[in-house]
Amino acid sequence: RLPSARGDLEFAQATFRYSEDGPEVLHALDLRIPAGQTVAVVGRTGAGKSTLAKLLARFYDVSDGSVSLDGVDLRDLSVADHHRHVAMVTQEAFLFSGTIRGNIALGRPEATESEIIAAARAVGCHELIMDLPEGYDTDVNKRGGRLSAGQRQLISFARAFLADPAVLILDEATSSLDLPSEALVQQGLERLLGNRTALIIAHRLSTVAIADRVLVIDDGRVVEDGAPADL
Ligand code: ATP
Ligand code: MG
Repeated sequence: RLPSARGDLEFAQATFRYSEDGPEVLHALDLRIPAGQTVAVVGRTGAGKSTLAKLLARFYDVSDGSVSLDGVDLRDLSVADHHRHVAMVTQEAFLFSGTIRGNIALGRPEATESEIIAAARAVGCHELIMDLPEGYDTDVNKRGGRLSAGQRQLISFARAFLADPAVLILDEATSSLDLPSEALVQQGLERLLGNRTALIIAHRLSTVAIADRVLVIDDGRVVEDGAPADL
């Protein structure tokens, strides 16, 4: 059991193929990410960025080597502990049918109203929610068409903020937002990051700029690793 987590990550000789006889997609990757670091991952299509994120999210386990959190192999963590410590914010900012309140509290159904509101305020979506006719009771399906991509992204940030994981994985949306929304999403992201460990598959230059470290992945290998200013 790992009741609380600092958020130190380590990939050690992490190798992955999607099927036993398939090609190696990640090749003996060695990577240490200290707790609190924001890492932007960039690289051309098919390089292995999402695969790296999926190993951390435990959609898959490594074929060889290991991935560990605070020195504990992810395979030795219970699903519940992994879920508590490592959260993935999806590219599509996926909202489930139900109310906005339910969507934010997903994964923490016992959260109080004031915790939910505090999370929404923290990432900057409380006002927009209050502007909806039914506020937090708004059904995202009925209103879904009226929530913009940026608003949906902010609500998914509030969900992640409330879950309060030590490690955050974000596969950034490629779809472009208008400039005002992009600024709000950027601000929400910075607040969500706080001092968590974060692995962000970055598509926006503004995201790369706020990272502590940028990894360039090519063909399943880290080919560059440095501060954004050095790249
Ligand atoms: P993009 O920028 O397009 O999202 P990526 O860097 O995220 O690319 P990955 O999705 O990690 O790339 O893919 C790495 C390699 O693994 C590619 O060759 C891809 O075709 C392959 N791959 C990805 N998902 C699967 C899968 N489910 N089954 C088999 N091969 C896959
Ligand atoms: Mg990808």
